[in-house]
This record gives sequence, structure tokens and C-alpha cells, in this order.
Amino acid sequence: MPKPANTEKTAWAELGPHNTLAVPAKCRQLTPVGSLDELITAVKNAKAEGLPFLVLGEGSNTVFVGDYNGHVILNRLQGLEVVKENEATVHVRVAAGENWHDFVKRCVEKAWHGLENLALIPGTVGAAPIQNIGAYGVEVKDAIISLEALDLNTLQVDRFTNKDCHFAYRESRFKQDWSEVKVVTSVTFELKKTASSLVLNYPALQDRAERLTQGELTLKDVFSAVVSLRTEKLPDPADIPNAGSFFKNPIIDQETFSALKSVHPEIVAFKQDTVIKLAAAWLIDNAGWKTKRRDGVCVHQTQALVITNPNKQNGCAIESFAKEIQADIKDRYGIHLEIEPRLIRV
Ligand SMILES: Cc1cc2nc3c(=O)[nH]c(=O)nc-3n(C[C@H](O)[C@H](O)[C@H](O)COP(=O)(O)OP(=O)(O)OC[C@H]3O[C@@H](n4cnc5c(N)ncnc54)[C@H](O)[C@@H]3O)c2cc1C
Repeated sequence: MPKPANTEKTAWAELGPHNTLAVPAKCRQLTPVGSLDELITAVKNAKAEGLPFLVLGEGSNTVFVGDYNGHVILNRLQGLEVVKENEATVHVRVAAGENWHDFVKRCVEKAWHGLENLALIPGTVGAAPIQNIGAYGVEVKDAIISLEALDLNTLQVDRFTNKDCHFAYRESRFKQDWSEVKVVTSVTFELKKTASSLVLNYPALQDRAERLTQGELTLKDVFSAVVSLRTEKLPDPADIPNAGSFFKNPIIDQETFSALKSVHPEIVAFKQDTVIKLAAAWLIDNAGWKTKRRDGVCVHQTQALVITNPNKQNGCAIESFAKEIQADIKDRYGIHLEIEPRLIRV
């Protein structure tokens, strides 16, 4: 009897539960890996079948534009160890498949400072350096000493220093030229033991933390303030599927900004050294997109940077809505909005 063709759609695995936009895409094979050996075996298996493969964390920064004709490997590497400690700092090595927010909570419980402003960001520890996650004036690069990554050609694990990673605003080498070549297996952080390192340069955060505190501001107050602000402003993907900010804040030069400001005096922007970071949410909101929807895909009502997918539409509907917004923003302001999550198509 002939074997059924392995392109049989019914045998494909569902990716809906593995991406926070709840896009109902499928892949040829879905393989959770809990150790380096399992990761290497999964990579070898995909290669042996001649199929493409993709390592996914929790799918909170990924849009499957169609079905993925390959293997999806779910990084579930677990573990945390203190590798160095003195009176002022601690170095912690964390496996890439650990949940990011759970790790931040553990740091707060241990009174290790540095990551509290990044509380409640979904995803895994291993994906955090990929786009150098950031929130409330802190980027994860500020605390990363080094990381380890599996090279997909040699199947060797190499160590990279912070500098090797070329971190920038929502960027790193792992999001660019190394995106198909290296898989992060662990990240080593340097965390501080003193409260003098609290970062409170966002007025809304300082204000909320002060309202929550019993006396002098502590690490726990800042953590609770971040959790409270994010819960208020951002939709929980478990209730309303989304991938957080869908667009990056555009970086422009002073001259372009002055020209824009003369036409839109109320435009929201932040000066960063010699450049200006425009608030993409303001551009989208001011262009009248807040609460608009196409084919069931929406701009979120309290945060215009977030595209939501309440009806679990496919990735094409999300991409075409995002392109419509991009074209309108380009027309109105002459500004290109770059999409933040990774669009996957094979
Ligand atoms: C509600 C919400 C709020 C958010 N808020 C923020 C925010 O404030 N700031 C912010 O920066 N981001 C934010 N995000 C985006 C997202 O949470 C982060 O980018 C997060 O780090 C993604 O983790 P993940 O494990 O889900 O990555 P995934 O979506 O699984 O993967 C993202 C990309 O990284 C690759 N990748 C994943 N793991 C690895 C690995 N170990 N090695 C190599 N490549 C890998 C994948 O192939 C994919 O291309 C938010 C998302 C949501 C849904």
C-alpha cells in the first residue's frame, strides 16, 4: 500500500496556541525541546528531511503570514544558576526557554535590581536579546553580560559578549544577519544589589510607584507599578490576541522633525542624543486609526501601537491591515513605520 504523502494537511500541527496573535497557521512538525541535546536532534531531523526550521519561544513577537512548510522547534530549555556574586552584584545564567516575567519576578524576590522595568513582557529569556526588549527607560542590553548560542551550521555552542551582539533599539545581530544561523541557548545577566540603580525617568512610572509605596521607593514598588501600568494599558493576549507594539517608533533627524513639528505642533517625540524618536502611537492615533478594523483585525482602543486579532484571523489579514496603516502614515507624514514583530512565511 502506498504511504500517504507527507504533505497531508490533516497531519500538520496547529500553531494557534503557540503565537499570541492566535493566528490559526499550521506547520509540518512541532517539537518542544527541553535540553541542548534535544535541540540539536530536532535541528538534525529537520535538516535530514530537507525542510526549513524555525526556533520559537512563546510566539509573542511572531506573525505567521501563512502555514509554515517546515519544523517549528519550541525552545523550552530550563534552568537558572548564579555564576558569580559579590557584595554589589550578581551574575545569573538563565536558560533560554525560561519564561521572561517569571525570571523578572524571581529577581525581584531576591532583591536583584535591573530588570524590574521590563516586568510583564511576554516571551522567553532567549528571545529577549533578539530584539533587545525594552520598556520604561530600560533595555535588556543594559543588564546582559554575555549569551550562548548554538550555531546551526556547526552545531557548536559559542559565547558572545554584549558588544558582539550589536544591540540597538529593538535590534541585535540575532534579528538581522544571524536570524537563520544562531539559536540563543542561555543568557548571563549582571544584576545589582542596591536600590540606587532604580530607573525612574518615566514620569508615569515614578508617579505610580510613589502612589504604591509605603515609604522610600523600593524595587518591589517599581515592579508593582510597571505591572499595574501595563495591565491598564495593554491587552492581555489570553483575552485579546495581540503581539504588543506592532510598529517601531521611527528615528528621524532634527531637520525632518522640525519640518513635521511646524505642520503638527502637538506631535509627540523624544530627543535621543542627536536624533529624535517619534511616538508611532501618536502618528497612528492622530491619523484616526484608533479603534478602526478590517476583516476583524483592529487597532487597540487604549494603545494605537497594538494591533489586535480578536476573531483569530489569518496572518495575511493582519499583514494587509498593517500595510494599510503604513501607507497612510507615509502619505500623511512622509514617515515609514517599520513593523516590529517578525513575519514568517515559507
Ligand atoms: C502584550 C505584549 C506586550 C509586549 N511588550 C513589549 C515591550 O514592552 N517591549 C518589547 O521589547 N517587546 C514587547 N513585546 C514583544 C515580545 O514580548 C518580545 O519581543 C519577546 O521577547 C518575544 O519573546 P518570545 O519568546 O515570545 O519570542 P517569539 O515570538 O517566539 O520569537 C521572536 C523571534 O525571535 C526568534 N527567537 C525566539 N527564541 C529564539 C532563540 N532562543 N534564539 C534565536 N532566535 C529566537 C524567533 O525565531 C522569532 O523570529 C510584547 C508582546 C506582547 C504580546
